[in-house]
Formats: sequence, C-alpha cells, structure tokens
Amino acid sequence: MDIKYLNITSLNDFYNLMFYTRDIKKSIVNDILNNKICNTEMIDLLIDALEILNNLPGNQYEKIINHHNTQVKLNLFYEISELQKDIYYLLHKEQDFYEYLSNLNPNFFKQIADGKDFLSNNKFKNLISDRDGTVNNYCGRYNSSIQSIYNAVFLSRYAIYSADNTVILTSAPLKNVGLLDMSVSPDNLFIYAGSKGREYLDKNNNKHYLSIDSEKQKILDKLNNEIDNLLNNEEYQIFALIGSGFQKKFGQTTIARQDIYNSIPPDISESFFNQIINLVNYIDPTKKYLSIEDTGLDIEIILNINNEDNELKDFDKGDGIEFLDRNIPLNINELGAIICGDTKSDIPMLTTAIKKTNKVAAIFVTNDDNLKESINNICANSYFVSSPDILVTILNEINK
Ligand SMILES: [Mg+2]
Repeated sequence: MDIKYLNITSLNDFYNLMFYTRDIKKSIVNDILNNKICNTEMIDLLIDALEILNNLPGNQYEKIINHHNTQVKLNLFYEISELQKDIYYLLHKEQDFYEYLSNLNPNFFKQIADGKDFLSNNKFKNLISDRDGTVNNYCGRYNSSIQSIYNAVFLSRYAIYSADNTVILTSAPLKNVGLLDMSVSPDNLFIYAGSKGREYLDKNNNKHYLSIDSEKQKILDKLNNEIDNLLNNEEYQIFALIGSGFQKKFGQTTIARQDIYNSIPPDISESFFNQIINLVNYIDPTKKYLSIEDTGLDIEIILNINNEDNELKDFDKGDGIEFLDRNIPLNINELGAIICGDTKSDIPMLTTAIKKTNKVAAIFVTNDDNLKESINNICANSYFVSSPDILVTILNEINK
C-alpha cells in the first residue's frame, strides 16, 4: 500500500491508517530486539503516516475529519506526538532519545535514577501493570491508542531480562477492539489480561477465560446485540468511533457517550445515555444482573458477581489478579510483585497482592497527592513518577 496518496475522508480511513502503522511498528520492534538493522523504507512509511496526520485540516493537534457529512473534531495529540517520538528514536541514539524525553518531562533524569534505585532494591519477578496512563501514554480514543516502538522495545527488554511474568492488566477487552489490537510487542513475552483480568492470553498464545454463569452471559449477549442494533442507526454510529468506542468486554460492556474533547453535543450524548438506560432496564428489569456506571464519557454496564459472602459486587482488577495468580500461576506469595498503575481503579491490584505477601512494591504514575497518600497507606514501599514515559524508561534502564 502506498500511503503517500491516502486521502482520509472518514473516521474509518483514519483508523485504517493507524492500524497500518501498527503492522509497520511491530515489524520494526522485532528487528530492534533481534539487533537487526532497521529498514529505512519502513521508517519512511512512518514519516509518511505522520505527514498525513499533520496535513489534516485543523490546527497542530486538533484535526477535523468528515464522517458521513458530520465534521468530527479529533485531538490527535497522542497519535502525532507518539509517531514523532518513534521517528526520533529510530533516527538517533538511545541517549539522544532520553534527552528528547527529558525536554518533555520535567525532572526526567532524577526520576529515572531514583526509580532505578527503587527497583534494584525490589527485584520481584512478577510485574503487573495497568496499561493506559501507566505504561502507555493516555490516548483519547482507545481504538487508535497503538503502542509506540520505543515503548514496546523498553517494556519487552524488561520482560525478557528482568521478570518471570510481565502482566499487562487492563479494563479494556483483549480483542475486537482491545489490548491485543493495540500492542506492537513481540508475541510470547507478555501475559495480556483484558476485562480487568477476566480474560487473558498467556505466553504460549492460549486464551483463558474466567467462567461466567451461562444465564448471566446470555443477558450480556442480549444487551450487546441490542447495542449493536442501536449503533446501526446512522445517528448513533458515531458513538462506536469516539473515545472508548463500543467495547464488548468479558463480563462488562463499555459504550462511549462522549470523548475528552467533547466531540458530541451534550443533548445528543444525554439522549444516547437515556437510550442505553432504557435498554438495560428492558433487559434486566429487576436490576439483578447488571449495574450501570456513568463516567460522563463512558457508560459501563457491568455484570454483577458474587463475592465470598455471596454479596453482589463489581469485578475489580484485584479479582483479576486472584484469577491470574491461581490460573497461570504467578506465585505472588513466593516471588512477590511490582504493581504499577495510575488511578484509583488500580488500587485493588495492590491490596490483593499485599494480602498474599510483603514482597510488594508499587510504582504509580501520578501527581495526585490524595492518590499518593492512599497508595502509601496500603504499601509504604512505593515510588511515584510523573509520566508513563518515565516508568518505561526506568524499566528499560534496569536491564543495563
Ligand atoms: Mg490507567
């Protein structure tokens, strides 16, 4: 495909371009990890892709794409800046790339040095990390949050040289569209856990699922079909293409009603939200099976589970770790774990790990003092950094 002449005339064209870059990135990552010289034609393709994004109408990062006669404003900061970083990384020495990152991240080298010290004192063989906002820069649209080359190389080195198990645990689904679709790392290095750990791909490429009661699964399938039908209406199609999009997770469904750039007029977002509530009420009138959480951006419809005391509760990432620890197994109680996250929803990973062993270290990507305090109260053995790029650089450095 000669992408030089590609003309983006819909959101689908945009996503196709991003997926095209994913395949190129994956092949380059493989070359780098195998110490092969990187093919310059491949780098040129990434440069072409960046140029296409830069040339879209709009300003530096806020671009406009026409989608079925609707002008959709997209903030492409992630897509553009990650491609820029990758191209710089490929054309320069690693030390120069660190300088590049230090211009984007205040206090970069100090955080790296302290982080390296912290990890040297906590050589636990399980690394369990959230993805978005933790080891991957945050992107406004899940469906184009393709991993960067430098990111995949740094994380892969850690997985190869420093850990027995490197688990990426996210709330997004594994596939269609999910964690695996966004990854450009080589196969067989990571354990990818989607849907908060209810489904995972092991290092031998086998998928595993936490079993869900078939009656409950039917309810969720029915809901997903109804949402599919709703999204077939032209007026609602857009909700599958913005923000988190439509994610059929295992045990949970996410549908965007807005994105962080407020692309959708508030009244249309509200009316779509009400349509979804009506659907859930219609499918589960007694509210026995499904609970709804609205973040203002995403509507999360969660299949209720029963905890040890048979009370209904939402499945969290701590439950995910329990499942992985038992099934893989991770042997957290013997090997310990380094837990990485960036939000409150990652805290259950830490509480679960610390119940098993005191060999736990936490690295969180946050500038939020309240969150830091909560983490410190659960695990005093903690370290904080200000961006995902700093965390992945520490993980790269620890292998040297
Ligand atoms: Mg996160």
